[in-house]
Amino acid sequence: MATEPRVNPFAVAQSQFDRAAAKLNLKPDMRSILREPKRELIVHFPVEMRDGTIQTFTGYRVQHNLNRGPGKGGIRYSLDVTLDEVKALAMWMTWKCATVDIPFGGAKGGVICDPGALNNRELERLTRRYATEISAIIGPYIDIPAPDVNTGSREMAWIMDTYSMHNGYPIPGVITGKPIEIGGAEGRGSATADGVVMCIEKAVEHVQMDIKGARVAVQGFGNAGQIAASLLHKLGAQIVAVSDTHGGIYNAAGFDPDSVLHYKQERSHDNRRGSVAGFPGTQEVSVSDVLEVPCDILIPAAVENQLTKRNAANIQAKLIAEAANGPTTLEADDILFKRGITVIPDILANAGGVTVSYFEWVQDLQRFFWDLAETEVRLRKIMTTAYDHVAAMAKEHHVDMRTGATMLAVARVARATELRGVYP
Ligand code: NAD
Repeated sequence: MATEPRVNPFAVAQSQFDRAAAKLNLKPDMRSILREPKRELIVHFPVEMRDGTIQTFTGYRVQHNLNRGPGKGGIRYSLDVTLDEVKALAMWMTWKCATVDIPFGGAKGGVICDPGALNNRELERLTRRYATEISAIIGPYIDIPAPDVNTGSREMAWIMDTYSMHNGYPIPGVITGKPIEIGGAEGRGSATADGVVMCIEKAVEHVQMDIKGARVAVQGFGNAGQIAASLLHKLGAQIVAVSDTHGGIYNAAGFDPDSVLHYKQERSHDNRRGSVAGFPGTQEVSVSDVLEVPCDILIPAAVENQLTKRNAANIQAKLIAEAANGPTTLEADDILFKRGITVIPDILANAGGVTVSYFEWVQDLQRFFWDLAETEVRLRKIMTTAYDHVAAMAKEHHVDMRTGATMLAVARVARATELRGVYP
């Protein structure tokens, strides 16, 4: 796998910020405020395991900046979670919410664990205890978590219930990505992928490409990657490669991603997910090789630091849409930009998820719910407006779209920070 452990995601996030701040001529005082998270909570908590033993887990909740609104950002379960990863993801959430201009700040959470090794009861106890530990700093007007890698609507329901139990009444607005029956929003499940595809639809106009017949490779076959593959397939694109943690598959003639999902699901057991590897009629490729196969559109939809100086020169796609957060290092960005490859950056491309999370939160607070059609119209408006603003910024300053998006976002957050002033 192409992960370079030496690349620290928070260092990448700070370098991206520095680049945008320099272009904006941001004052040193403001840079020092925005360069670090406002709050970092580390929790160590015990969970009773199935054999009666107690295991202590470590979790984090980081709030980067809350000047434009309450914190917003997912919760990740993985053995690879680190404080610096969570800090980077929290900073990217601040820029993402500002890029699409929704009234949230940036936050993120994570627990160091292997969810595949836990049974349902252990996972529920871990989730409820983690929610309890971070409940001091979350809340519908403070910080509203959501799903991320290895968490989904089930975990969000447990967190909503835990927080509500502590307070004595239902508080759906404390978390988004919940099941519809307890205050979830229509369209949240596919929102990240919907947003990715909406951005691709805008971008193909500029790179003179037709989605129909375009060859697509996707790294990461989870919520973001699998649904994006399925949507693009329905629009006539040819899905030629996909991968997950266990392996990758490739077929130059394309395959049906929905059949791959079915194949993967049939091989899932308890919380241990199945794999795309071995799907009939495809050639086996490694998880990292999926990034380098011949294709027109590449969608990194797994984790950080996948496109690096090591492989950026080998990427064959003309368009990269970052469904994952932080998949590209700064050096890789420069190489791709020089090669004329368009990168739709994470803080724009995958912002559909947080945008529909915002819709979910608004509906929860109002106890008044919209239908799917209303969600889709509002999402498209926000995504296409943001795309146009980012593209205009990048064009005006002759920079790549990531720098353009970060400049747009940093300027908005800096302005909010300046208007509020420094307390006391
Ligand atoms: P997921 O858990 O549903 O799927 C993740 C996929 O990536 C799985 O197929 C997994 O096997 C694969 N994967 C995990 N670690 C990997 C590794 N080290 N190398 C290669 N593949 C790996 O998660 P998701 O919700 O689809 O999130 C994927 C990415 O999209 C993350 O970067 C996440 O932060 C980002 N994202 C997700 C959402 C959302 O709403 N789900 C929103 C915005 C951004």
